[in-house]
Amino acid sequence: MLRIGIDLGGSKIEIVALGADGGTLLRRRVATPQGDYPATLAAIAALVRAVEDELGQPGSVGVGIPGAESAATGLIKNANSTCLIGRPLRQDLEALLQREVRLANDANCFALSEAVDGGGQGARVVFGVILGTGVGGGIVCDGQVWAGANGIAGEWGHTPLPLPQAADLPLPPCYCGRSGCVETYLSGPALSRDHAAHGGEPLPALAIAERAAAGDALCTASLARYEARLARALAQVINLLDPEVIVLGGGLSNIERLYANVPQLWLPHVFSDRVDTRLVRHRHGDSSGVRGAAWLW
Ligand SMILES: [Zn+2]
Repeated sequence: MLRIGIDLGGSKIEIVALGADGGTLLRRRVATPQGDYPATLAAIAALVRAVEDELGQPGSVGVGIPGAESAATGLIKNANSTCLIGRPLRQDLEALLQREVRLANDANCFALSEAVDGGGQGARVVFGVILGTGVGGGIVCDGQVWAGANGIAGEWGHTPLPLPQAADLPLPPCYCGRSGCVETYLSGPALSRDHAAHGGEPLPALAIAERAAAGDALCTASLARYEARLARALAQVINLLDPEVIVLGGGLSNIERLYANVPQLWLPHVFSDRVDTRLVRHRHGDSSGVRGAAWLW
């Protein structure tokens, strides 16, 4: 059985074909047609046909999208690629490809990939977190994405940061229209902004982590604030979902000290005498989104 996964991103569309054993048979990427919905559909269909021609067999198709499909209307919502918003993407792809297509949010695909054969392998409940330009989350239970009644399960990035403290105020405005969302504290740009607000020079998030590792005091303080916020925000997830594993992905998941420090910092905020939830790094990195899309079947 051939599983085809597509990761529809703002700048690129990536496709992967997985064999029955989960091994990668083929993978390629093209630039996403900018702001052009019909061209985006055509590009996806062309990639699928090319892969099937090359491998000589048809496959199942799963697509990861930067947004969610409304369970009520079948239309795309919450997408940062705005040309998708309000479109019946799944229905349109099914018509073009002449088969059933499964769609999932890209953070859900990340969580699924890591749950199947990545950092969360073997766990029944996995919470996947993307800490990058934005912040996303996804829930996988027993190998299945939990999409939710509103298609927003795991959308932790747009829940409020718990227990805001003096250094967290005023609540930063979020593009979603709310203030104080987890994303406004835990994305890469948020770490840079917070560092600058506390007297640091303008630096990308990973440069702050590098300088902290080299002993820079301001960068160390910024990273400590970041860890404390991440711990409070993940404690909330543990209290509600109680996952066995939390897998981090995205650029900031490369900050090694998070894995030792955050589980210490979340202890006082979790309603339990001990916390066995493991915080782990992704195994598949940037490939996790497209692999998870393939695993939707
Ligand atoms: Zn928000």
